[in-house]
Amino acid sequence: MKIDSINTWGVDATRPLIMAGPCSAESEEQVLETARGLKEQGIQIFRAGIWKPRTRPNCFEGVGFEGLQWLKKVKQETGMLTATEVACQKHVNEALKMGVDILWIGARTSVNPFAVQEIADELRGVDIPVLIKNPINPDLELWIGAFERIAGVGITKLGAIHRGFSSFEKIKYRNAPQWQLALELRRRLPELPIICDPSHMAGKREYIKELSQKALDLGVNGLMIESHCNPDVALSDSKQQFTPTDLGTVLRELVIRHTDTDNADYNEIMSELRAKIDVLDDMLLDTLQKRMNICREIGQTKKDNNVQVFQSSRWDKIITDMQTRGAEKGLSNELIEKTFKAIHQESINIQTEIVNS
Ligand code: PEP
Ligand code: MN
Repeated sequence: MKIDSINTWGVDATRPLIMAGPCSAESEEQVLETARGLKEQGIQIFRAGIWKPRTRPNCFEGVGFEGLQWLKKVKQETGMLTATEVACQKHVNEALKMGVDILWIGARTSVNPFAVQEIADELRGVDIPVLIKNPINPDLELWIGAFERIAGVGITKLGAIHRGFSSFEKIKYRNAPQWQLALELRRRLPELPIICDPSHMAGKREYIKELSQKALDLGVNGLMIESHCNPDVALSDSKQQFTPTDLGTVLRELVIRHTDTDNADYNEIMSELRAKIDVLDDMLLDTLQKRMNICREIGQTKKDNNVQVFQSSRWDKIITDMQTRGAEKGLSNELIEKTFKAIHQESINIQTEIVNS
C-alpha cells in the first residue's frame, strides 16, 4: 500500500497536527464564529460534520449540502483547510464539488465494506487526504481492509483516526480506547499517520486532556478534537465539545515529547537501561522454558494416573496468590491476570497434547 507522509496534506505538519471544529455544522454563524476562534488558537484544519450518523432517528441529522458552503467560507476567510465526514457516494461527490480539502470515513461506515467500497469507487482519480476512523468494533483486519479499498483506487494520502470502541458495559469513557490495537496498526502499516480523536473516546470534556496526553505519549501524529463556539447548546455531542479558547488552553497544557533525541547522556542512560531489560527478558525466557518443562512432567504424571488435565481449584489458587503477591510488588492485576492466563493456557495445551499422545 503506498502511503504518503502527513507533509503532503497541505499543512505545516509539525507534531501534533490538530484538527478541530464542531461535531456538526449547525448554522453559518456558528460555523464561522467557531472557525475564527480556532484560527486564533493556531488550528490548521477545521472539521465539521455535515451529514450526521445518529444512533436514533428523529435527532438532528446534519444540515446537508448547505453546510458545505459555510465550509467554503471558512476556507476563504481563515485559510484553514476543511474536513468533513462522508458515508456514501453522494456525500463524496458533493464534498468534492464544494472543495472540501480532507474527507474522513466515520466509525459507523468503516465497519461496512459495501459503503467503504462505494466511497472508494467515487474517489477514483481524485487526490485528497482520506482519513478512516476505526470501526466501532475492535476489528483490526476490517480497519486495514478499509485502507486497502481506499488505497485500491489510487488514494495515497491516507490517515487513521483512533476514536475508541463501543462496548455494552458502562465504562468511564464513551468509547474505550484500545491503544494496543492502534499500536498494532502502526506495526502493520508503519507509514500510516495516526490521529487520535479523544472527544469521541471521552464523551465528556473533562476526560479529553488525559486521553490526548496518553495518545501523544504513544506517538500519535495528531489529534481531532471537537470544538463549538457555544457547546452547551450544540445540537450533537454537546458534552464533549470545548470552546475554541478552552481548547487552546488544553492544547498548551499538553506535553509534546520528542520522537527521539541525539542527546548523548540520554542515549547512554537508555542503552544501559535497555541492556538491563535484555538480561531480564532472557531470564524470563529461561524461567518460562523451565516452567513448561515441569508442565510436561505433570502431563505425563496425569496421564500415567488417568487424571484429567484441567483442575479449576488449582488454577483459582494460582491466580489469587499471584494477584496478592503481585500487588505487594506494585504489579497491576491486569498484568498478572493476562500473563498468568497466557502461561496457564500454554500449560494446558502442553498437558493435553501429552495426555492424548
Ligand atoms: C464525528 O466525528 O462527529 C463522528 C460522528 O464520529 P464517529 O464516526 O467517531 O462516531
Ligand atoms: Mn461528534
